[in-house]
Amino acid sequence: MSKKIAIVTGASRGIGRAIAKMLAENNYIVIANYFRSEEEATDLQNKFDNIDIFKADVSKREDVKKLVEYTLNKYKKIDILVNNAGIDQEKLFQEITDEDWNSVINTNLFSVFCTTQEVVKNMIHNKNGCIINMSSIWGLVGASCESIYSISKAGIDAMTKSLAKELGPSNIRVNSIAPGFIDTDMNKEYSKDDINNIKQDIPLQKIGQPEDIAKCVKWLVEDEYTTGQVIAIDGGWQIH
Ligand code: NAP
Repeated sequence: MSKKIAIVTGASRGIGRAIAKMLAENNYIVIANYFRSEEEATDLQNKFDNIDIFKADVSKREDVKKLVEYTLNKYKKIDILVNNAGIDQEKLFQEITDEDWNSVINTNLFSVFCTTQEVVKNMIHNKNGCIINMSSIWGLVGASCESIYSISKAGIDAMTKSLAKELGPSNIRVNSIAPGFIDTDMNKEYSKDDINNIKQDIPLQKIGQPEDIAKCVKWLVEDEYTTGQVIAIDGGWQIH
């Protein structure tokens, strides 16, 4: 059987990097997308024979088209898409500018719409596919001072459910993962004291590691009967 081909967006650092490594360790061929962190992406590629890297700003349709064209020209099919790339922004609602809105929505939500649209044509043709969208618990419960971020993630979850219904008959599964507080650069502004306070609110009393999210991706890519779900991996932080 031919090896499965996976695209992971935002795979240079953090959660995406852990997902790319996990897939490579499990014999998938991974196209690890990056945008600004060329050095980290090259380091990842050097560590695995089955990781290929591709620079693209996934908030831009023309870049996404190039990423998908590159993958199909070289590997002929796409089995797995992990829409992971994302940015965060903390601001009071009344201080948010139109530029802030466009930046977060385009990077977090338009990218998922656009990448999925470009990839799914091949998946529908093959009647096979697994799409995993990186959401956030804030998409489920809303975060104070992170409203655009929360909106972008809630949009992703709605897309996940709609596409699970629309693409299920083509044997394509679509799910969201909603991480809680994960130890990556995205949270590097938090002090030790902030993190200790957050830990006290988490039933499992610890923050998550990128590998905790990669384990859920491993399960989802192997599973055959789960679709349309938003799976919170948050140590129980936001049980609802
Ligand atoms: P991170 O450490 O800041 O890494 C973000 C990744 O996204 C980087 O690889 C970055 O690539 C990539 N990226 C950003 N803008 C991009 C663009 N326009 N085009 C292509 N790639 C882009 O963040 P993380 O914590 O791993 O977050 C990954 C995902 O998990 C995000 O969707 C985030 O919202 C979600 N999440 C994170 C947490 C958390 O606590 N960390 C919680 C919930 C959800 P370059 O550096 O190469 O530009």
